[in-house]
Amino acid sequence: MVADVVVDRVARGLDRAWTYLVPPGMEVAKGCRVQVPFGRGRAQGIVVDVQEVENPGPSRLKAIDRVSDTYPALSPLMVELGQWMAREYLCFPSQAYKAMLPRGLGHEDPTQELIEAVGSRNKRASRRQTLWNVLQERGPLLKERILQEMPDMAEPLRSLVREGAVTVTQVALPSAPASVNPSPFTLTGEQERAVSLIVASAPGSVWLLEGVTGSGKTEVYLKAIEDALRAGAQALVMVPEIALTPQTVMRFEERFANMVGLWHSGLSAGERTKTWHDVRTGRLRIVVGVRSSVFLPFQNLGLIVMDEEHESTYKQEEHPRYHTRDVALWLAQQSGLKVILGSATPSLETAFFARQGVIGWIRLTSRVGSRALPPVSVVDMRRELQEGNRSIFSRELQEAVSRALAQDEQVILFLNRRGYASFVLCRDCGKAIECPRCAVTLTYHQQEDSLVCHYCSYTMKPPAACPACHSHKIRYFGAGTERVVEEVGKLWPTARVARADRDTLNTRDSYYKLYFDFVEHKADVLVGTQMIAKGMDFPNVSVVGIVAADVALHLPDFRRSERTFQLMVQASGRTGRGDKPGRVVVQAYDPEHFAIESASTHDYDKFYRQEIEFRQELQYPPFSNLWLLEVADPLDNTAQQNIRKVADMVKGLEAAGCEILGPVPAPLPKLRERYRYHVLVKGPKCQEVAEALALVEQSEFSCRITVDPYYML
Ligand code: ADP
Ligand code: ZN
Ligand code: ZN
Repeated sequence: MVADVVVDRVARGLDRAWTYLVPPGMEVAKGCRVQVPFGRGRAQGIVVDVQEVENPGPSRLKAIDRVSDTYPALSPLMVELGQWMAREYLCFPSQAYKAMLPRGLGHEDPTQELIEAVGSRNKRASRRQTLWNVLQERGPLLKERILQEMPDMAEPLRSLVREGAVTVTQVALPSAPASVNPSPFTLTGEQERAVSLIVASAPGSVWLLEGVTGSGKTEVYLKAIEDALRAGAQALVMVPEIALTPQTVMRFEERFANMVGLWHSGLSAGERTKTWHDVRTGRLRIVVGVRSSVFLPFQNLGLIVMDEEHESTYKQEEHPRYHTRDVALWLAQQSGLKVILGSATPSLETAFFARQGVIGWIRLTSRVGSRALPPVSVVDMRRELQEGNRSIFSRELQEAVSRALAQDEQVILFLNRRGYASFVLCRDCGKAIECPRCAVTLTYHQQEDSLVCHYCSYTMKPPAACPACHSHKIRYFGAGTERVVEEVGKLWPTARVARADRDTLNTRDSYYKLYFDFVEHKADVLVGTQMIAKGMDFPNVSVVGIVAADVALHLPDFRRSERTFQLMVQASGRTGRGDKPGRVVVQAYDPEHFAIESASTHDYDKFYRQEIEFRQELQYPPFSNLWLLEVADPLDNTAQQNIRKVADMVKGLEAAGCEILGPVPAPLPKLRERYRYHVLVKGPKCQEVAEALALVEQSEFSCRITVDPYYML
């Protein structure tokens, strides 16, 4: 027997499998992790093929050292998927496999640790003593439970163990009975129709579920999952980011008691291993997870739901630069599972394929319970300024907020920029203070009283005088979330304000706390970036203000209109969800822009028609594929030379129907002390492109190639 093994090395010339002898008696199957001799040392690898060889005779092949698992870590389908990803996303197969297997995958361990207080202990007040008292009062508790309820008790618990004040017992838990709980709702006609279409569809069907915010898409997912469970299959629900969708997660856990596992980056190595094995053995029937959950070792996956399918977090930015949607569609094609892509604002690609009939298309056109979509008014901020209003809030927004607060209702204010001021400018010489390592302006953060680079995290104290001309007339421009909080405090001093951005929310617990605090009305005004624009249901919010809707409209990126439209619609969707009608005020400097105009009437079709025309005219996706080639170097000259050579290498693709744009300096021409240049290849997916780009990838110019890039900066 011989086996082909992909080794865990990334270097030129190594993007292939190597053949090894399987020693007699060794059990090796496709998908097993193995250790093999490689070069002068040893390497880990994945078996991608096993062949019976007749009469091998004397051979120079080396033999596999050992097999790491008692079962193949990757199913044959996943082995194929890795090969496909390597071709599709121009990466090494080993990089694909690495992404598919969680880090530090340990062995299956169905036991848990039970912690019990022993003897007596009465020391001075400390967290240790508090924990011991809790154990004393409540009796033995599972370690997992303790840390869930009291996340800061990890260290005190370790101390108690060292001290011998608690005992630790390994216990095997009988799994709690799983049950499907009935839906509290009668489906609406539209939901009913959606469910029956999906349930009746052929294996391998892919559906776009295009439903306005609050139209009850989640209820459709739940019914489709029930159907998959009835057929004995497992189901996967993908969400852009678990922490941002506490409510969605809870709805799945409620409906499918003790069947749901979560998959996200916040899991400990132990939790990851446990969930991974529980999925593999079928103990878990449903997973709610982020992008990488698409690689979990399901036994029999029948359905993938991709909620908010337009979200950019579904695209991985690092090798392998896969898009989760592509992987899901590949799985549907190969294994016959069904896919539901859900969104109120589908990506142009998905919307196009649905309208062309390439995938199924279901629409939910109205909100559940005859709640109306909130009226949106767009305020021209140039006018406000002309008429003497220098505040960051228009008069209309001020009036709306005042009225809501007077009626004890809640308000959300969105601004997609954190910090206090996005640039700091000298009034005398006109120079903005830039990051010394990047060609970008520094953002002022009031809380830390410092200037911070949002790209490389460089930090400095704000200078008292202009570094260029020593003038003291330094001014702050471009309001961020901190500034909005400050202004709210000035205008409505009694309102309780909470801020939600990456600076205040960095753990899953902090999101949950924010979410529940706001639902329980512990704050009146929530100021946040787009991170809180999706998925959350706040029944008492009657006003949503979008402080600057056109922040993203001026970026040199062909998806700028799409992003602006999506943000506006998602943000508007946060209001009018309870019994009170909602209202949205959108502030913009370019209020006539079609993305803003169509979002203000919740008119996806109108937006789509105009945007798809633009995409077709300029041959952007879905009418072409894009490959972004990027070279970065500490020396500007070297970077320029290299990008020119890269451009030469792909020039021939014009004959294959491609358009080559560049070389040009990247829109962010310098980041982290490296000068950056781009070439964009636009064209059909074909053999010629694959071959040319494989050569670029292997060239000495350290060119980074992104297939279907999401960000063009
Ligand atoms: P979407 O995901 O489309 O934004 P949701 O699934 O969150 O919408 O549904 C919006 C609200 O309507 C939720 O609070 C949900 O519980 C409720 N809901 C969903 N379906 C029904 C129904 N058939 N009858 C009554 N309420 C429903
Ligand atoms: Zn100056
Ligand atoms: Zn920087």
